[in-house]
Amino acid sequence: MADIISPESPFKEEVRQLLEGSGIKEKSDEVLGPFSDITNQVAEALWNAMLPGSPFSSLSWELLTFTFICAAGFWFFRKGRGSRDATGKERPANSLLQYLFPRDIYTHQSARVDIGLYLLDRGMFPIWFALSLGTVAPFFERNTIAGIEAAFGASPAIEPTIAWRLLYGLVTILIADMIFYWTHYMMHKTQIGWALHKVHHSAEVLTPWTRPREHFIVGPLWALGPAIGLAISGGIFAWVFNGNITQITIVNVGIFSVLYALNGNFRHYHVSFRYPRWLELWLQSPGMHHTHHSYLEKHWDSNLGLVTSIWDRMMGTIYIADKYEETPWGLAPKDQVEYTSLRDNLTTPFKEIFRILRKKPKTYPDISVSAPEESRNLTL
Ligand SMILES: [Zn+2]
Ligand SMILES: [Zn+2]
Repeated sequence: MADIISPESPFKEEVRQLLEGSGIKEKSDEVLGPFSDITNQVAEALWNAMLPGSPFSSLSWELLTFTFICAAGFWFFRKGRGSRDATGKERPANSLLQYLFPRDIYTHQSARVDIGLYLLDRGMFPIWFALSLGTVAPFFERNTIAGIEAAFGASPAIEPTIAWRLLYGLVTILIADMIFYWTHYMMHKTQIGWALHKVHHSAEVLTPWTRPREHFIVGPLWALGPAIGLAISGGIFAWVFNGNITQITIVNVGIFSVLYALNGNFRHYHVSFRYPRWLELWLQSPGMHHTHHSYLEKHWDSNLGLVTSIWDRMMGTIYIADKYEETPWGLAPKDQVEYTSLRDNLTTPFKEIFRILRKKPKTYPDISVSAPEESRNLTL
């Protein structure tokens, strides 16, 4: 195992710097265990996708510009159709500017709350992420490699051809997809998970900044699954190829990372980007996430996937909407009142969790709205 696992890695250097910057320098040597080049690559790709300053992050100016250029292409080819207003209804735009940056969406209170939550979350998330990738991932990877070596002996050191490298990238993305689905499923189907995840769903308009809109304590829940799953797969690949495989890249950027970032921006953007129905049965189009954010009962808990639709189909949570189907975003109105301002989004989850732990029934503030009437039926 000695030649697979290595204490040196550029990713660990970045994490070490971050931990030092956060004032937990003394701990950094203890928390960053040695792991293989493979887990290092995966960690670095994830790290780059998450950090706002990175050019591979969906919120980097490069990827945002690319998103808006694609949307301008949609405006041209669809003759102004496919854009939604703040109520989630289709709205033909008069001008390109209105199509790309509609005033009612970007001046909405929800868009401002996105930024506030984003800044708070970004302050915390790298630390959660560094800690889970730095401590949990090496532990699982080391034990995976040790387990395989005990069962099958030393690495066969297979030569990593292009086909193997493609397969490696594909398997990694499928594992990440599976972990995302199940983490997301638990966020929707458990009471505490939903109390926290409502912060993401309280967005009444979708902007690229809605993507990282989460309560700041949710970070470990989203980071832990990938850290474990990708460390196990990293361990398997590290053993098969003796630590010697890299993903397929274009100008040094993993092709899957770029697709992931672009897809992520369109998931939370008012311009719908859909695939043909037959393809949506296999892959999640970004527009399918518009339905996921709708508060209409028929759309609840639908399209929980990230990359593929496989898990949604297996679990019956897939919903393929009509081309211009209305998707009013946010929570059902009686939940929305408790999750509208930045302060509410930060404090209500704690109140909700406290209530759930004391097993008190949910009571709703008296609001005079007509529809929809029913609250979510949650099961623990
Ligand atoms: Zn969700
Ligand atoms: Zn979302």
